Amino acid sequence: NSFLNRIESTDPSINAFITVTKEQALLDAAAADQRIASGDCSPLTGIPVALKDIFLTEGVRTTCASKMLDNFIAPYDATAWARMKSQGAVLLGKLNQDEFAMGSSCENSAFGPTRNPWNREHIPGGSSGGSAAAIAAQQAVATLGTDTGGSIRQPASHCGCVGLKPTYGRVSRYGVIAYASSLDQVGPMTRDVTDAALLLRVIAGHDPKDSTSVDCPVPDYMAALKQGVKGLKIGLPKEYFIEGLDPDVQRAMDQAIAVYRQLGAEFVEVSLPHTNYAVATYYLIATAEASSNLARYEGVRFGHRAKESSGLIDLMMQSRSEGFGAEVKRRIMLGTYALSSGYYDAYYIKAQKVRTLIQQDFIEAFKSVDLLLTPVAPTPAFKIGEKTADPLQMYLSDIFTIPVNLAGICGISVPAGISANGLPIGLQLLGRPFGEESILRAAF
Ligand code: GLN
Repeated sequence: NSFLNRIESTDPSINAFITVTKEQALLDAAAADQRIASGDCSPLTGIPVALKDIFLTEGVRTTCASKMLDNFIAPYDATAWARMKSQGAVLLGKLNQDEFAMGSSCENSAFGPTRNPWNREHIPGGSSGGSAAAIAAQQAVATLGTDTGGSIRQPASHCGCVGLKPTYGRVSRYGVIAYASSLDQVGPMTRDVTDAALLLRVIAGHDPKDSTSVDCPVPDYMAALKQGVKGLKIGLPKEYFIEGLDPDVQRAMDQAIAVYRQLGAEFVEVSLPHTNYAVATYYLIATAEASSNLARYEGVRFGHRAKESSGLIDLMMQSRSEGFGAEVKRRIMLGTYALSSGYYDAYYIKAQKVRTLIQQDFIEAFKSVDLLLTPVAPTPAFKIGEKTADPLQMYLSDIFTIPVNLAGICGISVPAGISANGLPIGLQLLGRPFGEESILRAAF
């Protein structure tokens, strides 16, 4: 009740929720009370949570912030959510995002932008902007987001919460609406690192329904938190500490480094030489995969169907024209172009090769360090509308988060300071594949 009241009083000015599942939440909370009374209790029993609207939730509207799925009721649960639900987590509702997770500001939503609770004139980050804003506004205890190129870490940074992108394959993507399948990964967004460790433990692990989920044991992440950072060797990639980095962000990084030194961590400079190619590589691979994944929305099997059409092809064209927003259309065109015959080798195949080089940069760096420390974003949250006219500027703002997805490694964003104009600044810690324990340990 307390969280539902909080949503009611704060959400009109934040717009973090697309759907609030009030009646079901109250029923589930009552069931959780019973479960607790009978002693059948797990860490998540009765905990009020909310999910990015990209997660399928059985019987609950799931829109992916698109007009295309405006009336779509999911027929089954995403595995990550099914695991939380089986522990008795209570779903408060579904959260706003950029349409089909395409964006960095939560402005590309068919349901209007989400506003940053710290300053409502600013963006909360994206694409999981609702998931971050809901934590910052204390509308939910924990949320889930997805991260294809930074969509968990960047909004967490802009809203002053914790966001963890696990290693590709750590968490099942089953029942998560696909954006770019080789990059998408599910992760927790929380108020602190302990909650992130706890939630990751619940959602991680092999799922026979997702062949890319890896069958290796899930460690007790909570145990890792107590180990401290003494003796850890942390790399500072020189390509991430560039001129033009916002002075407030630079200051927050310097202060964090000083604190880690005091606690006994050691720092060395490392190089990730292919960093400059990451944004271009990402926008070829992500849009190529997206153009293929979004082919399923044709207005026939499910999704928005145009009322007027002159035949089957026209029906598909009309439905897609009406259902998709401008950014989604832009990406479909870019991706289709990159995959088309005659251009495939020059763009898509080339991008795959550069992706391997970016991955090798990280493998090389992790030979000499345990972790990497970087900013999450070059600036604190910008103003709503500031970058909408210039998609390229928007794409470039993801430079520090995108390489991580291309390499498939894990990363966490934790609060590290406040800018002169009162907005949160996050710090990013990156770890080896399946090294979630070490990034949680250092983040704690
Ligand atoms: N901003 C990036 C994009 O628009 C990343 C989004 C994401 O991680 N889902 O593709």
